[in-house]
Amino acid sequence: SSIFASVELAPRDPILGLNEQFKADSRSTKVNLGVGVYYDDAGRIPLLKAVRQAEARLFEEAAPRNYLPIDGIPGYNDGARTLLLGAGSPLISEHRSLTVQTLGGTGALKVGADFLKQILPGAQVAISNPSWANHQALFSAAGFPVVGYDYYDAATHGLNFDGMLASLRALPAGTIVVLHACCHNPTGVDPSLEQWQEIARTLQAGQLVPFLDIAYQGFGDGIEEDAAVVRLFAELGVTMFISSSFSKSFSLYGERVGALTLVTGGDEESTRVLSQLKRVIRTNYSNPPTHGGALVSTVLNTPELYAQWAEELAGMRDRIRTMRHQLVEKIQAQGVDQDFSFVKAQRGMFSYSGLTKAQVDRLREDFGIYAVGSGRICVAALNSGNIDYVAQSVASVIK
Ligand code: PMP
Repeated sequence: SSIFASVELAPRDPILGLNEQFKADSRSTKVNLGVGVYYDDAGRIPLLKAVRQAEARLFEEAAPRNYLPIDGIPGYNDGARTLLLGAGSPLISEHRSLTVQTLGGTGALKVGADFLKQILPGAQVAISNPSWANHQALFSAAGFPVVGYDYYDAATHGLNFDGMLASLRALPAGTIVVLHACCHNPTGVDPSLEQWQEIARTLQAGQLVPFLDIAYQGFGDGIEEDAAVVRLFAELGVTMFISSSFSKSFSLYGERVGALTLVTGGDEESTRVLSQLKRVIRTNYSNPPTHGGALVSTVLNTPELYAQWAEELAGMRDRIRTMRHQLVEKIQAQGVDQDFSFVKAQRGMFSYSGLTKAQVDRLREDFGIYAVGSGRICVAALNSGNIDYVAQSVASVIK
């Protein structure tokens, strides 16, 4: 008999299932708001000019494709770390931090989780309720029990700050706490900087281990502004893990560009930690791929390309903001009483729209508008061609 005879069918990813349904829908007016990708106003995934120029340079260089170092391209790692900590950070000059290139933000979380399992084998992991679904799955797969901490308040469409602090205070010392450093996925709800200060102090007082996940740097208030939370933790001098992703900010989803940055106690500690991280990487995939890393590294380390990238990222950020405002106004213009103004205050690509499961079902069935059952919509999938239709349809299902 087959060794696979008793293998059970894994549950389908609900969002991928939604995409398949969307593809099969023959209505020409259909809109997919279930995705986690930035689309431009023409409904296309952009290829950034900065990336295209970097690609042209690399093509001219025609460099051979040797193996990269286990920890990746040095210029990539320096660039990624500087984006997080800031150019003048003492954590860089004093070697109290290190960065390794990873296969996307997911790869950073996985390498970090595997290393954490070695140094804190008995720890548990706490994630926000709700969180990006892969947080739970990934830390479970690395062998950790995963618990939730209070985060979202459905009544106010905002942050349950008191609940969050109470949950964090109740966690045992050594718990790994995964925090979305900006543009929370799936809710779009972020703490204020003052609230972050209290969150950071709470983690420090409780001897909790911060794992900051930053997959949308530049989509909130700006590249530097969105790193404020990382820098706030850094200033407290706590050791921490940071996973970053360039999938969205460079529109390079399939290139798997991410980084894992660790803040350590000092130079010598960094050396020991890096040697162990390399072992984790070596036994997983040996070393990262070249192309995406070379593109990002070229952009980050070439001033005119960096400026071009920053401008294009600002364009994406502004377009999302415009869509948020227009959506709220256009729904209101349909004579809807329900207040949607909270959508304007949310940040990043996503919004917990407050639509119920039944309303989401009706949007899909009656109007061909696809959203996640939780009511999460991708604001970056709205554009000048579909926003009126979406606003009218939303109005119809809530009236
Ligand atoms: N963290 C969060 C919060 C995310 O939303 C995502 C991507 N959707 C990731 C990590 C992973 O990013 P990547 O696609 O680069 O693996």
